[in-house]
Amino acid sequence: MRLSRYFLPTLKETPREAEIVSHRLMLRAGLIRQQSAGIFSWLPIGKRVLDRISAVVREEQDRAGAVEILMPTIQSADLWRESGRYDAYGAEMLRIKDRHDRDMLFGPTNEEMVTDIFRSYVRSYKDLPLNLYHIQWKFRDEIRPRFGTMRSREFLMKDAYSFDLDEASARHAYNRMFVAYLRTFARLGLKSIPMQADTGPIGGNLSHEFIILAETGESEVFCHADYLDFDTPPADTNFEDVAGLQTIVDRWTSLYASTDEKHDEAAWAQVPADKQVAARGIEVGHIFYFGTKYSEPMRAVVTGPDGREHPVHMGSYGVGPSRVAAAAIEAGHDEAGIVWPDEIAPFDVALLSLKAGDSAVDAACEGLYRDLQAAGLTVLYDDTDDRPGAKFAAADLIGLPWQVIVGPKSLAEGKVELKRRRTGERELLAIADVIPRLT
Ligand code: ATP
Ligand code: MG
Ligand code: MG
Ligand code: MG
Repeated sequence: MRLSRYFLPTLKETPREAEIVSHRLMLRAGLIRQQSAGIFSWLPIGKRVLDRISAVVREEQDRAGAVEILMPTIQSADLWRESGRYDAYGAEMLRIKDRHDRDMLFGPTNEEMVTDIFRSYVRSYKDLPLNLYHIQWKFRDEIRPRFGTMRSREFLMKDAYSFDLDEASARHAYNRMFVAYLRTFARLGLKSIPMQADTGPIGGNLSHEFIILAETGESEVFCHADYLDFDTPPADTNFEDVAGLQTIVDRWTSLYASTDEKHDEAAWAQVPADKQVAARGIEVGHIFYFGTKYSEPMRAVVTGPDGREHPVHMGSYGVGPSRVAAAAIEAGHDEAGIVWPDEIAPFDVALLSLKAGDSAVDAACEGLYRDLQAAGLTVLYDDTDDRPGAKFAAADLIGLPWQVIVGPKSLAEGKVELKRRRTGERELLAIADVIPRLT
């Protein structure tokens, strides 16, 4: 992409309304624009980040055996009356009437709808296990939308729903998502810790929130420090191996880790003092087993091997890509701006021409622009005639992992400069060495 033809509306001033660094940087670097309280447009580089996060989420869901669908944002109230949640959900639900005076709503979540899909098609235990997910906009009329896309009213969520014959197989479904989430957040460059979370009125202990430690987090959390050094399960993890997955989950739940709601002072006191991490955290994912809570009232049943009908055991599993974008900035920034993890950066490389219009510089840039893309890298080519200082500042602000800097002086010796945004390290190298260095 040539910057001269792109749309990158960066701001010089720090927006007053933004209380936390990720919100400030998302506005300054031109990722988002607020349209009303808690409702945002995603501008070009913001959209690219959101798409890249969703792509990682999708790959890991698919790897774990989940199947992608797409359900609508607008739902009929009737389904929610069946489950009993239409009245129970309260003011967070945005209720709408259509022209025929029918009650509709903008979905805050999709348990009812996916249960309706399931019951319409699936009859036999032989069609299980099944896990259906989608990545779709949700609306929750949060009482206090704040921190930009961290807590917005309209937000993107990947929500998956598992269906199984009994509790034991539902646990395997849960473990698949547990491991998928460990992998997902690690790939997104985030250190997430699964913490036991409140299951609400359903009870049981099968609920974990995936938490990123951050001072600006809204949750109070408590965990054993060793989790921060645990290894992520590898890409070739066998998700069909019931015992193997359980072993991974057992290890990742062997030490204390809890959100405020489930915090147990007695168990906490057993954690050695120098290993106690009491901190603030951001909830980036949440997984939940809830048994037959929806399948019973909504009659989602399958015929079991015994020939009888059984309500299916379900779980749901959410990740918020739009919140993750903000969380990634909370975890990765410095005074100059954003420092994206490689896997979700809006482009891999910023190609900076320090003298647009100079024929040698133009030729070198055009060549690099072409060759970098041919090598599979995404490139934002700053071909504008801005001052070098402004270009450096903008490149640091938007935080692409690499900067390739082409100026007349080094070019006279056949060299360009390569800067790694994360470390600030710079090196001069021959043009021909740039691509081998980056691939
Ligand atoms: P919170 O405790 O922050 O209100 P939640 O527990 O209500 O979140 P869930 O229903 O568990 O959220 O939704 C799954 C995921 O969706 C969350 O882990 C988070 O990543 C994302 N999410 C939820 N609410 C919001 C929001 N208002 N803005 C952005 N992302 C959100
Ligand atoms: Mg909430
Ligand atoms: Mg929560
Ligand atoms: Mg939650």
